[in-house]
Amino acid sequence: MIADRMNRIDSSGIRKVFDLAAKLENPINLSIGQPDFDVPDEIKEEAISAIRDGFNSYTVTQGMQELRDAVCEDYRSRYEVEFEDIMITSGVSGGLTLAFIALVEEGDEVLLTDPYFVMYKHLPNLFGGKPVFVDTYPDFALTPEKLEEKVTPKTKMLVINSPANPTGRVYSADELRGIAEFARKHDLLVISDEIYDHFIYDEPHETLSKYYEKTLLLNGFSKSSAMTGWRVGYAAGPREVIESMKTLQQYSFVCAPSFAQKAAVAAIKLDIGEKIAQYRAKRNLIYDGLKDHFEVEKPGGAFYIFPKAPGGDGVKFVEKAIARNLLIIPGNVFSEQNSHFRLSFAASDEDIRQGIEILQDLAEQQ
Ligand code: PLP
Repeated sequence: MIADRMNRIDSSGIRKVFDLAAKLENPINLSIGQPDFDVPDEIKEEAISAIRDGFNSYTVTQGMQELRDAVCEDYRSRYEVEFEDIMITSGVSGGLTLAFIALVEEGDEVLLTDPYFVMYKHLPNLFGGKPVFVDTYPDFALTPEKLEEKVTPKTKMLVINSPANPTGRVYSADELRGIAEFARKHDLLVISDEIYDHFIYDEPHETLSKYYEKTLLLNGFSKSSAMTGWRVGYAAGPREVIESMKTLQQYSFVCAPSFAQKAAVAAIKLDIGEKIAQYRAKRNLIYDGLKDHFEVEKPGGAFYIFPKAPGGDGVKFVEKAIARNLLIIPGNVFSEQNSHFRLSFAASDEDIRQGIEILQDLAEQQ
């Protein structure tokens, strides 16, 4: 009954962690992929007013003009970037799904960094394409040399993610220029998932859209405004690609939730600088706590850190942590190799401190 394509995706890694986690009572949870703050009150009020005012119907497929204009203005003022076209999606996940359906054909190769965000691996598989992994260990840098090793005549596109889940790696302007040069040389589309753009701790965030004309930018409000359940994002870039994605949206998601689109207009204008300062302090707390005990890169953004497991077996190490009531995720959920583990510092300082203590202890026992 079930289509063959379902055999090409596998969720056993993450399910195993959830099964183990379900047995824990009140774990110290450093596994969460969303901010530990709630949607700011101003944004909630906008959503509530929109519902009360009857803004409850379908919107146009491409999303409210007011929100599309607000996103364009945001990119103009932050990066001096103009888009050919833009549409509102049901989160970045919605944007990724539409983009892969619109772009990937049987046999197409899609270059992905390893480690990667979980969806990137499964989408090419679902639509007949093939994920091709570019190993970025140990520093998670993506260089044109590494990309050149993996490109073939079948390569259709590349997916990048800066700041990255699960590593927190941020690409500098120079690195983005290098990626752009490589993509231009091989005439590839690049999907740039910039959902963590506001969670940036050292250097200002740079967008690939500024450096490469064939960028499909994906971004949204799940992380910056903690609106994970409201499902609003956007896709911006080449007109032809956005047009196809709009056609698909018409026959799938239809539109992003109406009240949430209204609230997103307010979300764009909200200054979250104070929250980012708190997250920078959390980043420092966790990095300082781990750096003398683990091989670990300092994350420049997002809210994850990706240390190497002592002994080199991520799953084994995570099992030991879970036995101590600390919930973390093995690196093989995000990678073709099982050497690391992911911690999220989107948690209370108290939980982070307790987590560090357990991890230091486990590292010393090795
Ligand atoms: N892209 C990355 C890199 C993510 O980490 C996540 C969520 O964890 C998403 C996309 C999904 O975002 P959304 O809630 O907008 O679908």
